[in-house]
Amino acid sequence: MNYQVPRGTQDILPGEVEKWQMLEDQIRQFCHVYDYDEIRTPIFEHTNVFKRGNDASDMVNKEMYTFQLENSSTSLTLRPEMTAGVVRSFVEHKLFGEPDLPAKLYYVGPMCRHERPQKGRQRIFHQFGVEVIGVKNPLLDVECIALGWSFINSLGLKDLKVLINTLGDDESRNAYRAALKEHFKGAIDTMCSDCKRRYEQNPLRILDCKVDKDAAVMKTVPKMKDYLNEESKTYFDQVLKGLDALGIPYEIDDTLVRGLDYYTHTVFEVVSENKEMGAQSTVFAGGRYDGLVEYFGGPEMSGIGWAMGIERLIIACEAEGILLGEKAELDAYVISLSPEVALHALSVTTTLRANGYRCECDYQNRSLKAQYRTVDRKKAKAVIIICEDEVAQGSVTIKRIADKLQKTVALDDMVATMDQFFEAENEHECNCEPGNCTCTHHHE
Ligand code: ATP
Ligand code: MG
Repeated sequence: MNYQVPRGTQDILPGEVEKWQMLEDQIRQFCHVYDYDEIRTPIFEHTNVFKRGNDASDMVNKEMYTFQLENSSTSLTLRPEMTAGVVRSFVEHKLFGEPDLPAKLYYVGPMCRHERPQKGRQRIFHQFGVEVIGVKNPLLDVECIALGWSFINSLGLKDLKVLINTLGDDESRNAYRAALKEHFKGAIDTMCSDCKRRYEQNPLRILDCKVDKDAAVMKTVPKMKDYLNEESKTYFDQVLKGLDALGIPYEIDDTLVRGLDYYTHTVFEVVSENKEMGAQSTVFAGGRYDGLVEYFGGPEMSGIGWAMGIERLIIACEAEGILLGEKAELDAYVISLSPEVALHALSVTTTLRANGYRCECDYQNRSLKAQYRTVDRKKAKAVIIICEDEVAQGSVTIKRIADKLQKTVALDDMVATMDQFFEAENEHECNCEPGNCTCTHHHE
């Protein structure tokens, strides 16, 4: 028996996890200023939250981790995506009755899909996503895309583009489905088994097929745009106008259909053109959906959302040489010169920690040399030296590593001395005019 993580999953260790923390901090800041609130829903739901009627997507039909415990008739599924859980929760807690709609929600967390693992495709992966539910307005489609677009821009990503399309309203989509059925009628017997299923369940999904994508019948597929009614065209125009106004570049891709069967009107994908991304080039994707709120027993309401793969985002950043978070240095390392002062060292360390300094002390009674090696490895900015004589006198020695400046001070003055040593690095509030600061401290 060997113990290793299951295929398609990974451990995120210190050294790597800082990238995640940095992205999550940034995500929270963005959602905060856009007035989106976080929602956390269970990691598993009743299977029928995800598996709804005739859903033809691969995710629902082939990739779900579904289980049933012994002696239980309840079928549960590890969440493969969040939209369904969020809308279920929106209805369960009657958020549709809130006075200030739309509900604007975001989430960050792990999703599980049984896929063939490869770069940018795992069995447990993480998504940051948003859902805006309860108001149907093309300006919300715009805002929602703007949030994601400005977030990835703030990271410095450049090789990205927005692909956008419309699936129109029900009437337009039904007309298009009928046209697709007519188009594929003669060829469907020669196509893959998934396409045969899609033909019956939702012929739009055939356009996403990776097996039959080069078949002759694919070259002459009717275009969605020829089946849009006036209302759908107007809606799409307003979305595009909004993107123009906010300066968000996009390409209309009339082959973009997106998987989930509940999509209506706007669908989009933001893809990286960087070669490192390989076939897994979509960083985030989403669209508007109708019918989901009703499915869960709520009123007729529309929503829009997208989800971003954080692993793919990290690959995209690294491909463009963007540095995400790194392991933080220590502010101070507290050195004990003899085992007798170890407890005192811990209490000094605790005082520094209480004042916000990231610090550490020795728990192994190591030699001075060994402790200094830790100081180097952890890139401590200061050492606090604890020796018996000074403990007796109630004093302590502080040394700033950068310039070896050293001071012996009363224990009570230790924190103030640290503050002084590192003043320029600490946040500093001044009364200067914004943008016209004349004090000598630099602002970080
Ligand atoms: P794909 O066509 O790549 O399978 P999808 O349409 O299944 O994507 P969505 O359900 O729209 O993907 O999920 C949104 C985002 O989540 C994707 O754009 C991607 O960044 C990320 N994602 C989806 N599946 C995985 C996975 N298995 N591993 C890592 N990231 C994923
Ligand atoms: Mg997929």
